[in-house]
Amino acid sequence: MNTARLLSFVSSSNVCRNFSSSSICNANYSCKLLVVGGGSGGCTVAAKFARRLNKDSVIILEPSNDHYYQPLFTLVGAGVKRVSDTRRSAQSVLPKAAKWLRDSAETINAKANVVTTKDGHVINYEYIVIAVGLKSDYNKIPGLTEALNDTSSGVSTIYAPEYCEKTWSDLQTFKGGEAIFTYPETLIKCPGAPQKIAYLAESYFTKTNVRSKSNITYNTCLPVIFGVKKYADALLKVVERKKINVNYKTVLKEVKPDRREAVFYNTDDKTKETTMQYNMLHVTPPMKTPDFLQRSSDIVDPNGYLTVNKYTLQHDKYPNVYGIGDCTNTPNSKTAAAIAKQCYVLEHNLLGTMQKDEPKLKYDGYGACPLLTAYGKCILAEFIYDGIPHETLPFDQARESALAYYMKKDLFPFLYWNLMLKGRYHGPEFVRKIINPLAK
Ligand SMILES: Cc1cc2nc3c(=O)[nH]c(=O)nc-3n(C[C@H](O)[C@H](O)[C@H](O)COP(=O)(O)OP(=O)(O)OC[C@H]3O[C@@H](n4cnc5c(N)ncnc54)[C@H](O)[C@@H]3O)c2cc1C
Repeated sequence: MNTARLLSFVSSSNVCRNFSSSSICNANYSCKLLVVGGGSGGCTVAAKFARRLNKDSVIILEPSNDHYYQPLFTLVGAGVKRVSDTRRSAQSVLPKAAKWLRDSAETINAKANVVTTKDGHVINYEYIVIAVGLKSDYNKIPGLTEALNDTSSGVSTIYAPEYCEKTWSDLQTFKGGEAIFTYPETLIKCPGAPQKIAYLAESYFTKTNVRSKSNITYNTCLPVIFGVKKYADALLKVVERKKINVNYKTVLKEVKPDRREAVFYNTDDKTKETTMQYNMLHVTPPMKTPDFLQRSSDIVDPNGYLTVNKYTLQHDKYPNVYGIGDCTNTPNSKTAAAIAKQCYVLEHNLLGTMQKDEPKLKYDGYGACPLLTAYGKCILAEFIYDGIPHETLPFDQARESALAYYMKKDLFPFLYWNLMLKGRYHGPEFVRKIINPLAK
């Protein structure tokens, strides 16, 4: 084997993984901008800066070979899409002008501008954007992992690509009885999804004539159905029409798959427990930031969220550190829609920081949640910080509409793959000014 072939074999194969302590494998990298996480936020930011900076000035640290458009998982659970519709290879979406390291961040020393990786590499950066998202914390609920992995348990979640098709098969095998949907006592991504899947399930049970033989219950940790009053009022009418039992301040504590029982506690008095029988249980798992952030106490709050200024997205202690997406402590709804708006602010503010200027643009907390209420119907919630509605379309978006349903199903995925991940979509503000100029 000649030297060039030997080197390429060593650097590209498992040999490196198996002998990661060997000096030939533990590389030292340096870059102008390190983007940690290549999901919705990381890919979008990397695309913007790969265009603006010299080739290979941007390194993306991302362990996964697959990139998912997660908002479609809800429609996979309802049988409208397949999981393969939500997936593309990371290689095909990450910007070619950036260097992709298929590895994960293990530690960060923000004072020294250094990240170390799981495989033992060291990356020196000038600027860093942290975009590692949220992960499901299944172990917080005893019995849940076992129940999810048992194909006949009737327990599923739309919150993971490996389980969202199970929700669809559970809907199809449900022949009546108790169907329970849950919302955990942690911050979650897309806080509307736990109830969207309940509404779609109700529609499916009606279509398949099992609705009259079933009870549908939605147990949520929250004291309200939705955080923005305008849409909460509309959703309460949906709940009433669909005869769904809603229990507020009620949180899943344990799943007992052998007895098909779920144990819940009340958030006002955690000793007050209720056990419910289920035939189908849809769980929204508790979530947390990845372990890498949980360990980095210098840059996160006590719950493990990256502490950034909620307007500028710059870290509150280290000016060369920025954050985007679900892993930051900004008090917005954790959605891909929020990232579309955040990436524009981040791009301008980080460019300013690179030129020793103060960050000038402000993120207004924009987020959107297409609340699917039935097959073919959707309430398109759009709002900014403090729960203030901020609508794009020239009609009352609290009304259920077919247009919003097809936007969620077809238009948003198109915008995501073709514009947003390429750093060319900043949310609907521009369209809003044209089609809804009188809106406040
Ligand atoms: C069921 C469901 C329904 C949803 N519905 C909607 C919706 O209708 N509308 C909407 O706008 N949004 C919706 N969302 C939310 C949206 O998908 C997320 O808010 C968005 O994808 C978050 O982007 P992110 O970049 O912060 O995190 P992610 O896209 O999750 O990316 C994080 C990346 O970081 C990587 N990573 C993790 N740890 C490390 C590490 N240590 N080192 C390096 N990389 C790491 C991960 O591999 C991952 O690729 C939904 C989500 C779900 C699950």
